[in-house]
Amino acid sequence: MPQDRANLAVITNPAYDKHPDREQSRQFQLIEVLQTTLILDQLLQLFSREVQSVVPHDGFRYGNPLLGVEIQGGERAPHSCHYTLVLEEQKLGELTLMRRKRFSEGELGQLENQLCCLLYPLRNAVLYYQALQSAYTDPLTQVYNRTALDSTFQREWKLAQRQRAPLSILLLDIDHFKKINDTFGHTAGDSALAKIAHALRQTVRASDMIFRYGGEEFLILLSNTSGEGAQLLAERIRTRIRDMDCSDIAPNLRITTSIGVATLSHPEDTPLQLLKRADDALYQAKRQGRDSVAVA
Ligand code: GH3
Ligand code: MG
Ligand code: MG
Repeated sequence: MPQDRANLAVITNPAYDKHPDREQSRQFQLIEVLQTTLILDQLLQLFSREVQSVVPHDGFRYGNPLLGVEIQGGERAPHSCHYTLVLEEQKLGELTLMRRKRFSEGELGQLENQLCCLLYPLRNAVLYYQALQSAYTDPLTQVYNRTALDSTFQREWKLAQRQRAPLSILLLDIDHFKKINDTFGHTAGDSALAKIAHALRQTVRASDMIFRYGGEEFLILLSNTSGEGAQLLAERIRTRIRDMDCSDIAPNLRITTSIGVATLSHPEDTPLQLLKRADDALYQAKRQGRDSVAVA
């Protein structure tokens, strides 16, 4: 049964302050702990752990639609209390605590006191998250940039090696893009790139990561994806872009793309070798007439 509480701004509830000194020192302790991290999910895990002593719970859920973030901890349970967290009119997300037993009014009062300590650290973590996002995002296409690729590729490669899981990449290059710029103008070219990125986001799974690799080149990192799976996706992307209606950018604008596919074939394969194979495959796709997929 959800127990909805009012929006939480900075409030303290003196009604539950039977031992103001103890309550205050608990809050100081909590603030000290919460100040140790700017990482959003670490912060929420810490908060959940620290409030266990006053409000035991089985799990929590945090959502921030503005950031596109959903974080869960612990286990789901039938009873929940739910808070919309707001600080100085800035929405900081929704927090739900869950457990098997109903929350008492006294517990909710205590929790609300503790939540006040979360607001400023949470605001900082949200700002930090946004700063990291913008440092890793290409402003024109809103996909990850090259800086993000370097660290992510290494991480996913190590993970694939350790778990002996497949890993594939797609390297896309828009066909005759120079001609598109020359014919329709650079602004139309920019809009086309943004539209292509949007189509890519809609075609891949949420766990697949899209990077702007160069001017009109994109790289898609496919964790847990075999060569066959990657080839199927590449075909789906190729036809999706070829069939894209671009009349909102310019009449008669048609876009096609060539795609190179490469898959980790043995554990010694490095990210650089994988990239080289995808690049060779892309070159082959161009040579076989463009609007085409080639597998390394
Ligand atoms: P190919 O089929 O062989 O790939 O031909 P292409 O014309 O796409 O290849 P080329 O590498 O010769 O040209 C790439 C073009 O992409 C040239 C460059 O001006 C354009 N370009 C790169 N980045 C951007 C961008 O951010 N905006 C716009 N409008 N054009 C860009
Ligand atoms: Mg190119
Ligand atoms: Mg090109």
